[in-house]
Amino acid sequence: MKPFDVTAFRNAFPILAREIHGKPLVYLDSAASAQKPEAVIEAMTHAMRHSYANVHRGLHTLANETTDAYEAARAAAARLVGAASPDNMVFTKGATEAINLVAAGLGRQFAPGDEILLSELEHHANYVPWHFLRERGVVLRFAPITDRGEIDMDRLEALVTPRTRLITLTHMSNVTGAKTDVARVVAAARAVGAQVLLDGCQAVVHQRVDVTALDIDYYVFSSHKLFGPTGLGFLYGKADRLAALPPYQGGGEMIASVGLDTISFADPPHRFEAGTPPILEAIGFRAAVDFIEALDRDGAEAHEQALYRHVREALRGDNTVRVLGDSAEKGPILTFVLDGAHAHDLAQILDRYGVAVRAGTHCAEPLMRRFGVTSSTRVSFAPYNTVEEAEAFLTALDKARRFFG
Ligand SMILES: *Cc1c(COP(=O)(O)O)cnc(C)c1O
Repeated sequence: MKPFDVTAFRNAFPILAREIHGKPLVYLDSAASAQKPEAVIEAMTHAMRHSYANVHRGLHTLANETTDAYEAARAAAARLVGAASPDNMVFTKGATEAINLVAAGLGRQFAPGDEILLSELEHHANYVPWHFLRERGVVLRFAPITDRGEIDMDRLEALVTPRTRLITLTHMSNVTGAKTDVARVVAAARAVGAQVLLDGCQAVVHQRVDVTALDIDYYVFSSHKLFGPTGLGFLYGKADRLAALPPYQGGGEMIASVGLDTISFADPPHRFEAGTPPILEAIGFRAAVDFIEALDRDGAEAHEQALYRHVREALRGDNTVRVLGDSAEKGPILTFVLDGAHAHDLAQILDRYGVAVRAGTHCAEPLMRRFGVTSSTRVSFAPYNTVEEAEAFLTALDKARRFFG
């Protein structure tokens, strides 16, 4: 097999030629948001220059062209995650909105005493929308996390009760990189008739996902972590689940007919897409999917994993660095605490060497508490990163230590 061509891949991203404080940019923050290839930039500007109108078929040429491009993005999203039909895919403004959409709908259907099972590993996006339902008497239960930074599956299974209506978990942690054992989750849910939602924001970037094979009810992800534009995400839902879900926001485009006293709603997915949608973002996202599909995905994944292992091994003997989470098989995400250093200070010093990392709670405060820390530093890899960049990070980290004696 031909090795993954990191130089060719990297050259597709104009921003990576930038310098920061006179040093080459070393972008190790792709788990927060990935950079954009020329193809995505070009697709969006091309649309604005040549083929743009509001969507709605049948009115005029530009409207038809734009509608076709918009619906092609829906089909691309369906392909990317293995959905049976584009009709399973709802456009949202991000993964966060997709979870809020499901929570608002299910919240109207769940009764006091019904239970939702989450984990202590969740991004705030997969916790706070469910927290709102506590006002209505819905009970949240949290599966604990092992020292390796994984969901404790035995204890998760023990928390499933006949009142469990939904199990909602991250597919891959944005902090520890741990992957969730979906087959076990689905089996536990089905045993009591509960639904399953997976937060796929990280998993969809680093591995192939097939929602149909996983047999889950809902899957959410964001365009901007997949080399696409911000302002766009998706909710995948099984057809019967979407059909049973009440509308989220009201407005144009989501109705079948409107009278002064009665309104009927459009079928999914349009029922959930009130107002003018993120049209240009959808066009950019479609280009991002084309870009990903043209990629040697196995090679890219192996390359990211090699970068992760390189840094992980380099830090292994270092007793001033504590790595949070250490699964045998995980995403290329490395979160750590450096003795005596506040994560924010460390990130600012690394920035002086051109190295961009994330510092803070990573929108996962319960997990920080679980590990007994208030903040941490995260390095995350994308296929455009190089071994030289992994080395540059390690060198900058060594230099940074001197600031924290
Ligand atoms: C980024 C992220 C989110 C939130 O995605 P938005 O694009 O901000 O809506 C949720 N969960 C995980 C695991 C993430 O990495």
